[in-house]
Amino acid sequence: MTTPPTDQDERKYRILIVDDVPVNIQLLKTHLEAMGYQTLSAEDGLEALEKARSERPDLILLDVMMPKLNGFEVCRTLKQDERTQFIPIIMVTALNDVEDRIKGIEAGADDFISKPFNKLELLARVKSLLRLKQLHDELEEKVQELEEAREQLQELAITDGLTGLYNYRFFRERLGQEIDRAERHNLNLSMVMMDIDYFKNYNDTHGHPAGDVVLSTIASLLRNNVRKIDIPARYGGEEFALILLETNLQNAAKVAEKLRRVVEEHPFPMEETQPGGKLTISAGVATFPEDARTADDLIAVADRRLYRAKELGRNRVVAEG
Ligand code: GH3
Ligand code: MG
Ligand code: MG
Repeated sequence: MTTPPTDQDERKYRILIVDDVPVNIQLLKTHLEAMGYQTLSAEDGLEALEKARSERPDLILLDVMMPKLNGFEVCRTLKQDERTQFIPIIMVTALNDVEDRIKGIEAGADDFISKPFNKLELLARVKSLLRLKQLHDELEEKVQELEEAREQLQELAITDGLTGLYNYRFFRERLGQEIDRAERHNLNLSMVMMDIDYFKNYNDTHGHPAGDVVLSTIASLLRNNVRKIDIPARYGGEEFALILLETNLQNAAKVAEKLRRVVEEHPFPMEETQPGGKLTISAGVATFPEDARTADDLIAVADRRLYRAKELGRNRVVAEG
């Protein structure tokens, strides 16, 4: 008999043959391998479950009549397990046993073949289910790709393009959520508002691109000098904001002071043209619940203190008043 023409590459498919009679396995194996398929086998229900889970075959040919765990039970178990539920199952039943077929359908079988089987029918059914499995796999891959694209978009929507920090929108939303959470669980929360000193001077002297490099550098300094759970954001043009979870005013002021010093000590390119010969930041610190109980009010207090730091001569942290 000639092999039917094929539009798929059979070699990539692996078929698990389950039968308690080795001769039956051998027969199916011979036909399937002649078609180019790879085969695996199991001689009882438990071994079938094990191999289905560990080997993830593309199709299972499952004998109904087996000692211990019969084919229906194996089928039901595989179809209830999310690791194996999409592997198509062809149940091998006695010829025209309607009752077995009904039980098979109830157990989740995808197709049937009767013993003794017709070789062409077997191959046709195998081929059509493998095509379905392939479509399913491709669909799953696309769903996965879409999900990744969606995550990337979501990431982009909350990220500031220049610095890679969270953007204003995210910061504002997150601050509201974290205040709610702090309120519920009786926790402290602080925020720091920071602004580069005399940044207009730097931009005017060295140009906007050089200013952008400074913004990115300060963003990295922020990221690298706070805890993983803290939330640094670019609040606006040359303003940065930081949420410090479970942190009281005193500790938040310490963090702000450390950041101020890190920026002061960092050697920025051409910073000697800045007043005082250094590129620096000023910061205002505010804490929940002592200073304010809403996001807007907390931001307003931090902002007021930042303004105060500027008035007092810049390159400093204000955490009161
Ligand atoms: P102060 O110490 O009072 O904060 O003085 P300042 O010069 O920093 O403040 P001002 O608000 O007058 O100027 C802010 C400057 O920040 C103006 C603008 O050129 C610069 N700036 C804002 N956004 C960006 C940006 O995305 N890139 C660059 N390169 N510069 C920016
Ligand atoms: Mg400003
Ligand atoms: Mg400024």
